[in-house]
Amino acid sequence: MPRPKKDIEKNNKDATTKSGRGRKKELATVTGMKDILPQDQAYWQKVRAVAQKAADDYGYGLLETPILEMTDLFVRGVGKQTDIVDKEMFAFTDQGGDNLCLRPEATAAAVRAYIQHGMLNQSQPVKFFYAGPMFRHEKPQSGRSRQFYQFGFEAIGEIHPALDAQLILLGWSCLNELGLESTVQLNSIGCPECREKYKQELIKYYKSHSKQLCESCKKRLLKNPMRILDCKEEGCRALRDEAPQILDYLDEECKKHFMKVLEYLDEINLPYVVNPYVVRGLDYYTRTIFEYWSNDDEVGKSALGGGGRYDGLVEILGGREATPAVGLAMGMDRIIAKMREKNILVPEMKYDIFVAQLGEPAKKKAMALYERLRSIEDLHPAQAFYKDNLKSQLEVANKLKVKFTLILGQKEIGDGTILLRDMDGGIQEVINFNDIEEEIRTRIKKYRTSKIVSLASGDEDELSDKKAKRKNREEDGIVAGEEDDQEHEVIEAEEHYDDLMGGEDSF
Ligand SMILES: [Zn+2]
Ligand SMILES: [Zn+2]
Repeated sequence: MPRPKKDIEKNNKDATTKSGRGRKKELATVTGMKDILPQDQAYWQKVRAVAQKAADDYGYGLLETPILEMTDLFVRGVGKQTDIVDKEMFAFTDQGGDNLCLRPEATAAAVRAYIQHGMLNQSQPVKFFYAGPMFRHEKPQSGRSRQFYQFGFEAIGEIHPALDAQLILLGWSCLNELGLESTVQLNSIGCPECREKYKQELIKYYKSHSKQLCESCKKRLLKNPMRILDCKEEGCRALRDEAPQILDYLDEECKKHFMKVLEYLDEINLPYVVNPYVVRGLDYYTRTIFEYWSNDDEVGKSALGGGGRYDGLVEILGGREATPAVGLAMGMDRIIAKMREKNILVPEMKYDIFVAQLGEPAKKKAMALYERLRSIEDLHPAQAFYKDNLKSQLEVANKLKVKFTLILGQKEIGDGTILLRDMDGGIQEVINFNDIEEEIRTRIKKYRTSKIVSLASGDEDELSDKKAKRKNREEDGIVAGEEDDQEHEVIEAEEHYDDLMGGEDSF
């Protein structure tokens, strides 16, 4: 979760001032930027995986562009008058005198790549998928970081409205897959011709009410009048009800395109609302534009993503004229914050088996064994070879919630065996060292199946009592006739290592 503003400012102050004589500055992240720690990665991996799956399903190939680009790319692409370029770019001149900036968004870069690599000669549309950090020097506040993460899709070189509908669906279904209910807020801002006519009407209207506009909107009136429509200030919101609406200014072609998009969305039952106040902050959009609003966010205070058509951008950036394109970007930070808010859990890395060792020769042999286990497909072994004491190793194993622990000691090396401990009851069995892989494979498979079965029948409690354990062991292939011998060996082994476990790092 993003920290409250006060907190960020305080931390930043601490980080940049000397606190006390002679004390070194405390180093911390740059204002508005944050670390993503290992314990939070499950969410990020889940979001990336869902996006990657959607990209694969719909044939969007991964495009990775540099984080640094020429500042001019965004000045020309995103537009000089937009907040992003006007106020929020991390721009600088490098040692060689080039004007560079940290990318504030990915679409302009995707179009640059499309032009630079001559992709207009490939079959169209060219479809890109991307995921990575973007940078905007915004006022740090809840839900906005200066380094934030987006994934997105771009389809360049095709004007068919089916593509608009497909992309709108793509973003929505990613949210849906992550457990977030959202509604698409949809609008058309026409082509530059219909929009110009509309802008003039809009300026006329707001000029006659300019006293009621907030300070930012007074400036917007001169630079970017359509942004007034999505201003969240009370006075500006009240004014927009009477304001002219873009949909009334669309020419025949633009209207036809929009109606087709709606038709396709109706056909696939996608929840959408035509919202004439959604305008998006970027200059390059044409025709279809959209945002995803969480169903508990009625005013679109923090959209989870959005996008639209940008039929003019390829030409603006020096490519072939009249190359249509459409795309969307999703805010990963906001999506994850929303998932946490909704208590949506994501599965964490799960280890199956722990390799424990006692004594230097066993440690060395266990290291090699661990590599063998690691190469078994779909098996996740764990270890703590930096520990010598068995008790502390078993503590790690318990923490990782593994089902089994393999224990290798001096005695086992001599016998060519290894101990297999079931962590649910502490029962230990001796198995042949050479059979380890096969044994593990079978047992883990059985355990996973029994887990699915017990979850389905809801008798997980029963599984933990001793009867069930015995039953499990019978299922594991320990037939009645052999059982006495096995039992004997198990007890012997337990006594053997119960002694060892008491000792303090004696090996
Ligand atoms: Zn038009
Ligand atoms: Zn305003």
